[in-house]
Amino acid sequence: FSAIGRLDLLKQLQRRAAQLGVHPVYDTRIASVDAFGPADLIIGADGLNSVIRTAAPEEFGAQMEMLSNRFIWYGADCEFDALTQSFVETRLGKFNAHHYRYKAGRSTFIIETTDAIWHEAGFADLDAETTRTVCEELFADVLGDGRLVDNKSAWRQFPNLTCERYYSGNKVLVGDALHSAHFSIGSGTRLALEDVIALVDALESNDWNIPVALAAFQHARHPGLQKIVNAATRSAHWYEAFDQHMALEPWPFALSYIRRAGRLDADKLRRFAPAFTAQLEAHGVSLSI
Ligand SMILES: Cc1cc2nc3c(=O)[nH]c(=O)nc-3n(C[C@H](O)[C@H](O)[C@H](O)COP(=O)(O)OP(=O)(O)OC[C@H]3O[C@@H](n4cnc5c(N)ncnc54)[C@H](O)[C@@H]3O)c2cc1C
Repeated sequence: FSAIGRLDLLKQLQRRAAQLGVHPVYDTRIASVDAFGPADLIIGADGLNSVIRTAAPEEFGAQMEMLSNRFIWYGADCEFDALTQSFVETRLGKFNAHHYRYKAGRSTFIIETTDAIWHEAGFADLDAETTRTVCEELFADVLGDGRLVDNKSAWRQFPNLTCERYYSGNKVLVGDALHSAHFSIGSGTRLALEDVIALVDALESNDWNIPVALAAFQHARHPGLQKIVNAATRSAHWYEAFDQHMALEPWPFALSYIRRAGRLDADKLRRFAPAFTAQLEAHGVSLSI
């Protein structure tokens, strides 16, 4: 398992930008595409609420579906060995935490529950500090001596965003502005970086002919991107019913979890995780779908 903290990654990207002679402008919100004036190319790398996309969503064929589960994104001042999922039955109902180390002594700790449990638990009426304390109590066994660290943490619902067209005229979208990928597959940053690499490839290999390059970008990027985004969507939908999956016995539950993105058939599973599949078979769990 390897990971890098968001801040460390941003610092590395800033250093690289400086080497290339790029001068980023910080703390300045672009309110409209018009702010750019005449430009050869406008790259909308402005995240999920992209101004470039939301100014004309129909140009990009953008569609957004809100998932119903609630999640809250904390840090934790303790270190988990690897990506770990903790599904717990608590006094308030069923909850899940996705937790993983991002640097020495620090972890990401995302807590998730269904919309119904969230409402019944009364989280809508709790302030930030009480929410953090209650979440700590729910996951006390998992956290041990660790504490949850607030980072403007608030309950949210995850938006599944897709765009039929990656570009319109001289505007092109990349990263979260173009697509979301549920955090349960942990690939959002990778996809954003791969988008930009593919865009640069398309521009360079088409001699910076913008219309030709943008079409080439979508053509080259779409199949690989779609594979991951589809896997992320299937994974997200598995989590939408995680409380029902928790009714399964531990081994069938583990199989259901590992297969949630729909990319592991029995053969692949045997190849990638022989010890795990041996355990499943020893417990009489069928690997056939
Ligand atoms: C709970 C959760 C956990 C996640 N965990 C992981 C993980 O472990 N690994 C992983 O790879 N991904 C993870 N992701 C996904 C990841 O955060 C995103 O996919 C990634 O940050 C997308 O990068 P981006 O550059 O496209 O957008 P962003 O990181 O959102 O960056 C957009 C930038 O544009 C700026 N901006 C936006 N609007 C404007 C404006 N109008 N004017 C000027 N600037 C603007 C913003 O300030 C920001 O700097 C997680 C997401 C969530 C919700």
